[in-house]
Amino acid sequence: MELRLSYTAASTYERCPLAYRFQYVDGLEVPPSPYLSFGRSLHAALEWFYGRDVPEPPSLEELLTRLEECWESEGYADEEEERSFLSHAREVLESFYLRNRDHFRLPVAVEQRFEIPMDGYLLTGVIDRVDRHPDGSYEVIDYKTNRRLPELRRLREDLQLPIYQMACRELWGITPAKLTFYYLLINQRFTTSPRDEDSLLDVRARLSRVAEGIRAGKFPPNPNPLRPPCPFTDVCPTRTSAGDLREELESRRRALLERRRNLDRLIQELERQLLELDPEFLSREDGE
Ligand code: SF4
Repeated sequence: MELRLSYTAASTYERCPLAYRFQYVDGLEVPPSPYLSFGRSLHAALEWFYGRDVPEPPSLEELLTRLEECWESEGYADEEEERSFLSHAREVLESFYLRNRDHFRLPVAVEQRFEIPMDGYLLTGVIDRVDRHPDGSYEVIDYKTNRRLPELRRLREDLQLPIYQMACRELWGITPAKLTFYYLLINQRFTTSPRDEDSLLDVRARLSRVAEGIRAGKFPPNPNPLRPPCPFTDVCPTRTSAGDLREELESRRRALLERRRNLDRLIQELERQLLELDPEFLSREDGE
C-alpha cells in the first residue's frame, strides 16, 4: 500500500519515530483530551463561519450557536471542566469575530483536502482556509490553538506552511503571497512569505528522509519533551522500564488492555447512538 504522509505524521516521525509507529503503524489511538476536542470544535465553527454562499458574515450569536452544535464533549474530566473550556471557546470566537467581521470575505477554499504524489509516497493534508485579497494575491491560513507563539526558530523550521505552499501549486498552480498561522487564543497572526525553490527542495528532501525511514521500518525511540505531551508514555518501553523485563512487559500489557477496554466502551456508545437512529443497524451489519 502506498505510504500516505501528512504534515502531522511527518513531524511526529521527526520528533520520535517510535511515537509515529505507535500511532500510524500499530494504530494505537491518541486518547481523547480537552485540548484535542477544544481545537476541533473551534476549527469546525470557523469552517462553518467561512463556508458560506453569501459574502456577508453570520451574526456572532449564530456563530456561537454553531459552536455549541459542533462542540465535542470527549476527553473532559467532568462537566465543570467542559463548561470552562466551552466558555473559553466562546470568548475566543467572540474576539475572533470582532476582529474579522468588518473585512469578511468569502475564501476561495475552506478545509481544502489535498493528495500529492511525491517521490514514492502521497503527501496529504487539509488547508484550513485560502483567501484571495483585492490585489489578486492569495493567503493560506492555518488556525492554531496553542496558548502562545512558539519560538521563532521552531516556526521557521516547521514543515506545515511550506507543505501547503507546495499543495497550492499542485492544486491551483498558484504561489500564495502570504502563509499565515492564526493563533486563535491570542488572536494573533504569524505570517511568512513563500519559500524559494531551494528551500522547497530542502523540505522535499526532509520529507523523503522521513518516508525512507518509515519504509525501512526504522522506528527508534527518541525520548523528548513532546508538546503536546506524548500520548504513548503508557506503552512506551523507554517510560515503563522498571529495571525488570518481566515487570516492564506486564506494565505495557496492562496499558494495552486498558486501551482495549476504552475502545470497547467507545464502540458500545457509538453503537447505542446508531441504534437510536436506525434500529436495524446491527442486524444489517451482521448480514454484511
Ligand atoms: S514516550 Fe518518548 S520515546 Fe516513547 S514514544 Fe513517546 S516520545 Fe517516543
